[in-house]
Amino acid sequence: MKLYSTNNKALRVSFKEAVFNSLPEDKGLYMPEVIPQLDPLFLRNIQQYSLQEIAFTIANTLIGADIPVNDLKKIIKDAIDFDAPVKFLAADTAVLELFHGPSYAFKDFGARFMSRVMGYFSAADDQLLDVLVATSGDTGGAVALGFLGVEGTRVTILYPKGKVSEVQELQLTTNGQNIRAIEVDGTFDDCQALVKRAFNDQELNQQLRLTSANSINIARLIPQTFYYFYAYAQLKAQGVDRVVFTVPSGNFGNIGAGLLAFKMGLPVEQFVAATNANDTVPRFLKSGHYEPKPSVQTLANAMDVGDPSNWVRIQDLFGKDIEELKKIITTYTYQDQETKAAMEQLYHSYHYIACPHTAIAWLASQAYKGEHPGQYGSVFLSTAHPCKFPDAISEEVFAKIKLPAGAEKLDAKNKEVVALAVDYDAFKHYLLNHK
Ligand SMILES: *Cc1c(COP(=O)(O)O)cnc(C)c1O
Repeated sequence: MKLYSTNNKALRVSFKEAVFNSLPEDKGLYMPEVIPQLDPLFLRNIQQYSLQEIAFTIANTLIGADIPVNDLKKIIKDAIDFDAPVKFLAADTAVLELFHGPSYAFKDFGARFMSRVMGYFSAADDQLLDVLVATSGDTGGAVALGFLGVEGTRVTILYPKGKVSEVQELQLTTNGQNIRAIEVDGTFDDCQALVKRAFNDQELNQQLRLTSANSINIARLIPQTFYYFYAYAQLKAQGVDRVVFTVPSGNFGNIGAGLLAFKMGLPVEQFVAATNANDTVPRFLKSGHYEPKPSVQTLANAMDVGDPSNWVRIQDLFGKDIEELKKIITTYTYQDQETKAAMEQLYHSYHYIACPHTAIAWLASQAYKGEHPGQYGSVFLSTAHPCKFPDAISEEVFAKIKLPAGAEKLDAKNKEVVALAVDYDAFKHYLLNHK
């Protein structure tokens, strides 16, 4: 697999280089030089395969010789060790649950696969790989649990003090081993700025082998295609041939992976991008003008992104042709009041407790169906378990949540965290003195 930069199509780097750099120096995004087509026979018989078998076929088709078949099989077996079931709430209402991994959010797919790929590529090196990551909640947990125990790696997570939920904080701070958590007395943007500065610090880079677990890393994108194919397989077993996927979107990495799957041959009727008040992409598709705005805080806070970093990649997939993009992507935007009402309605109509992001996806999938009655299967993506978002869910409904296995145990674990002010020198001092 060779990749170019969206800012320089003449550039070619190896998969390994793209994984460790995350971003090309020209600040574009890495894209595969060619998008390989899946064997039509595989797609026709896809309902016969397990999630791991599907994941292997897709990863192997994309990555090719960069990871030998047996090594790739091992990586997949280890990384994708949880289910992604499609559940039917009603005959025409299906949800793809992506929260059955260790951090109870879909980011586990990306983080677990990336961690093992990084571990694999750095196994031959002597120097420890230091992963730095800033999180507003979900990314950090997935990265921490994804890298936990992966040899040759160490993860340092920065999160804003008091601004993540209890489950999220416990997932960040109770791991031990090769995972360290730093609680920053500031905002997510402060955390992000500290990490960015560390990556640009020459002295630090001479002493440590730093890498990021950024959501735009190609090794996070690839595994997110797996569950689109697997959802299709599950629907195909029910006689469905084409699917409309509704994706709750923030940075547009999840839906970007779906669009990559589509380009590889997955029969998708339409992608519905559901957003909260952070509606830069919906506005762009209406007006043709890309006008990012500072993010605004909403109940669905993992989607509070004013300038979605994966959008460039999606545009690149469609040759920057806005008419082509409009043919395959429909968008809907919802405010917090609607999100709240949707969570109540899902509970009262189906006894289904959804996180706010998932509830927004459900609203959009209903809206699309209303405007486009037709012959297709419709699936909305559930990106996180509701137990991660107590502040967004009414007390009555929250009390009814069945905690996933392992969530009760979090409380009993030892919490270990380092507290820092928003102070780059203190952060650097910590990194240099805790090697
Ligand atoms: C990260 C996240 C999203 C947004 O996904 P993107 O890939 O950034 O569009 C949606 N829901 C949850 C629960 C998330 O953690």
